[in-house]
Amino acid sequence: MIRNLTLWIFGGLLLAACAVAPTSQRGLAQQGANPELVLEKIAEDVWIHKSYETIEPWGPILSQGLVVKDGAELLVIDTAWNDEDTERLLDLIDEQIFNGPGTLVPTHAHADKMGGMNTVNKRNWATLAFELTNEAAAKHGLTPARSSVPYFEHERGKPNSWNVGRIQFFYPGPGHTRDNIVAYDPKTKILFGGCLIRPGEANTLGNTTDADLAAWADTVRRVAAEFPDAEIIIPSHGPAGGRDLLAHTIALAEVTND
Ligand SMILES: [Zn+2]
Repeated sequence: MIRNLTLWIFGGLLLAACAVAPTSQRGLAQQGANPELVLEKIAEDVWIHKSYETIEPWGPILSQGLVVKDGAELLVIDTAWNDEDTERLLDLIDEQIFNGPGTLVPTHAHADKMGGMNTVNKRNWATLAFELTNEAAAKHGLTPARSSVPYFEHERGKPNSWNVGRIQFFYPGPGHTRDNIVAYDPKTKILFGGCLIRPGEANTLGNTTDADLAAWADTVRRVAAEFPDAEIIIPSHGPAGGRDLLAHTIALAEVTND
């Protein structure tokens, strides 16, 4: 009873976050200071951005997004956890990669993916979200992107897909949330899976507060089928890996849904 109550309280605290208790990050919970936001180059013109938010009792939780320089355009996938860190992220991008406004696309409506949307809007970047994400943002007290990509699954009879420059965005169906999307760069064969895809070290699905557990495994199968050439898979909350992360997530989803 007490245990259930405790889990319920933790669940409530994690409403706005993607991650639950990644054991490898507990060691970072020291003196309440989060590690600094960093940009990490992983391929020609592609960087991972890493930011941290302290969520007790687990300490700093890593969240990752992507930065892609596509000719004269710059695309950022996901904000940092909050406005302050997103200011820092955009400053770093200005200094190191691209001076000027770009386009930002969040991969679902939780704080780790769009908690800094207000900052991005204020800096006059183009901000673009899947319609389901902008709708969910209001529900979670998050600032929506300025533009929406319409949800038209019923008209076309298949999930949504659209491009920003060379990057293909794809809505595979519900999983971590109802609105989660993934992004693929055909040039580098990098697939950004966001919170839908779990890191290899994870032995749970993370925060399932808004998840569709019954649909999750099939949703990841749709990702695998849509991007047969993807070689590097990047999750929100842990190290990049190969296609084994897709199989790993499907296995976790099937066990959790049993
Ligand atoms: Zn999330």
